[in-house]
Amino acid sequence: MKVFEKISQLGRGAFGSVLDLVFPRDCIYCESSRKGGGDFLCGLCQREICFLESPYCHCCGIPADISYDFPTENFECALCRKNTFSFDRARSLGPYDAALKKLIHHFKFNKQPGVMKDIAPFMADYFAGQEDSWEEFYVVPVPLFYRRMKARTFDQSFLIAREVARTLGLPLANGLLRRVRDTESQAQMKTKAERAKNIKGAFTVDRPDRTLGMDILLIDDVMTTGATVSEAAKMLKQAGAGQIHVFTLARALPYGNVIVGPSAQTDPVI
Ligand SMILES: [Zn+2]
Ligand SMILES: [Zn+2]
Repeated sequence: MKVFEKISQLGRGAFGSVLDLVFPRDCIYCESSRKGGGDFLCGLCQREICFLESPYCHCCGIPADISYDFPTENFECALCRKNTFSFDRARSLGPYDAALKKLIHHFKFNKQPGVMKDIAPFMADYFAGQEDSWEEFYVVPVPLFYRRMKARTFDQSFLIAREVARTLGLPLANGLLRRVRDTESQAQMKTKAERAKNIKGAFTVDRPDRTLGMDILLIDDVMTTGATVSEAAKMLKQAGAGQIHVFTLARALPYGNVIVGPSAQTDPVI
């Protein structure tokens, strides 16, 4: 069986769909034999992925039912009323949980960039349902530190950003932001304050001449407290950027100032 799996993995790509019929792989989430669905999730697990939808804080996108008992369409959460974030708004495709979390883990930590093929249709559906317009925006990924990029062999935010740019028909502006300082994995930081301190000074803007007046759709894989995307947005704003909207594939949901959601304890360091 192991040999068949190996052959199946090696052959994926050109002969992927044919090999799936001969050597079907298990769903990475429910581990049952994959029927239908994508390359990594079965059809049932794919259907479990849900989008984060309104009502949410119109600034940071945190779901309203977590923070507020009686949310209205345009409510602003307590953090945003205190101007906590440097970006103008943030949205995520879905909660960092269950099958979506498994896909992202597989993507990042098992080094499987092919997962983007399974994620791309969800992104297309998600953006088709959005009323926001990003005309004139540039898509900018939050960069990894080069040593981490070397260890992982690819930069997940760049791959997500490239897919967003393709989906929305927007230009991709890679290389505006640079990660100048390695940081401890944000997943190891349990509180919002720890995360903000850990990420401070981690980015510089390499091309302030290009950034001036630029509206930016800033892309990362997961948003937890928002410290990373906010720090990146702060540097871009200091370099003269216009509006900064954030999009992440997933949103880990904090409770109080301690992150008890699925992002906290289990993410590996890389
Ligand atoms: Zn499944
Ligand atoms: Zn908010």
